[in-house]
Amino acid sequence: MYCPTCLNDSLQINKSGIINIIINSKKLDNGRFLFNLVDQTEEQVFETFEDKAEDFFKWYSKFQNPSKIQRIQIISSNFNCTSGCPFKANMKKSVLGVLLPEEEVKEVILTLGEKYNLEVELLDDEDNTI
Ligand SMILES: [Zn+2]
Repeated sequence: MYCPTCLNDSLQINKSGIINIIINSKKLDNGRFLFNLVDQTEEQVFETFEDKAEDFFKWYSKFQNPSKIQRIQIISSNFNCTSGCPFKANMKKSVLGVLLPEEEVKEVILTLGEKYNLEVELLDDEDNTI
């Protein structure tokens, strides 16, 4: 992953931190979750993500005329550069392909879309960062 400061491929996710889920630019109040790779396996982090994603779909399915789900951002600001670059505290990057496998995340979203009767048409977004 590329560091925004030194532009080397030296960015890695911290051992622990917070992940935010933003869908169609909407954020559920409790849509964030903690991860801690010292105590958790990546599968456990993924399971937590699945639970949170389901909470979002439950909530979103109660909207009147919900627009189709097109944009998903699963982001964290808990990264570090192995060269020790300082970052702005508000730097956020996608954890897809870093901590959560992108294809499996998409599958979860599609499955939840069917379960909650919501249309899902994911855009092929740059890298889903904000
Ligand atoms: Zn750097």
